[in-house]
Amino acid sequence: MSKEKTLLNATETDPNKILPMKYLWARQYYKNGVANNWTPEEVPMQNDVELWKKHGGLTPDEKHLIMRNMGFFSTAESLTANNIVLSIYRHVTNPECRQYLLRQGFEEAVHTDTFIYCCDTLGLNPEEVYAAYETIPSIKEKDEFVVEITKSLLDPTFKTDSTEGMQKFVHDLIGYYVIMEGIFFYAGFVMMLSFARQNRMVGVSEMFQYILRDESIHLAFGSDLINGIVAENPKIWTAEFKRQLSVNIKKGVELEEAYARDCLPNGILGLTADNVVEYVRHIADRRLERINLDKIYGANNPFPWMSEVIDLKKEKNFFETRVNEYQIGGNLNWD
Ligand code: FE
Ligand code: MN
Repeated sequence: MSKEKTLLNATETDPNKILPMKYLWARQYYKNGVANNWTPEEVPMQNDVELWKKHGGLTPDEKHLIMRNMGFFSTAESLTANNIVLSIYRHVTNPECRQYLLRQGFEEAVHTDTFIYCCDTLGLNPEEVYAAYETIPSIKEKDEFVVEITKSLLDPTFKTDSTEGMQKFVHDLIGYYVIMEGIFFYAGFVMMLSFARQNRMVGVSEMFQYILRDESIHLAFGSDLINGIVAENPKIWTAEFKRQLSVNIKKGVELEEAYARDCLPNGILGLTADNVVEYVRHIADRRLERINLDKIYGANNPFPWMSEVIDLKKEKNFFETRVNEYQIGGNLNWD
């Protein structure tokens, strides 16, 4: 009789035996990821290149917003990939979850490739784009915060076999999945998807739409992993621990608000910094509720069309581009 599988500290179960499965949700997210397969080179960029290079084609404010988002996402995708491979994968030995983590790692590689493709096709200066996380304060502060709240896992002696160790691991998972992928990506998603709504920079906007679709699954997997660890180890979920987690998420929201204000010094594309800030607060409440923490803001969703994009299933694509062709399975299940 073999030992029952657990999410953490599975020292007596075989990490190579994925069958029989216990964590069917991890399996489902793997299938959802495969059904969404895409590559950036399939997205035509000719109109984007013409508009980007045409004198007066984009306003200085529009170019500023695009460059800020290129600067943030270009390195954030690699940071996420490194976190999965170097930290999370080491400690989550369950084979169903590892199968999903491998898929997520591949998707982060596709996202990293997206920004290589954008730099190449638009002719952006890679020295400028890839230095932004050191030179642009609103980006640097987001990345430094994620590194700061997730650094203990990089200690090679870190273990999850105590209450403190499990709390630290969940704390860091919230840094990776809820704050980085669930909050720090979303002001950028609203901004970049707003271009396609005006039928401009449609190729870049479409790629951000595919990334958003992938990230929604990453966030759902991460939230289920966090909730699953807490359910198996309820003693870690103390009032003081929950308070610390809420403080971190609140700090993340403040940094994302500062980033939105830096990207949008003037209202453009039907967006204002205030609207984007309200959106960030709205999604932060959804993230809190998803991991069983109390919501903080009570903000409305100023961009209901974002949920339509995220909830897109087999219907006609919102931007009338080619998403459906990438959906090679009928098993999409949005959170
Ligand atoms: Fe990503
Ligand atoms: Mn991701």
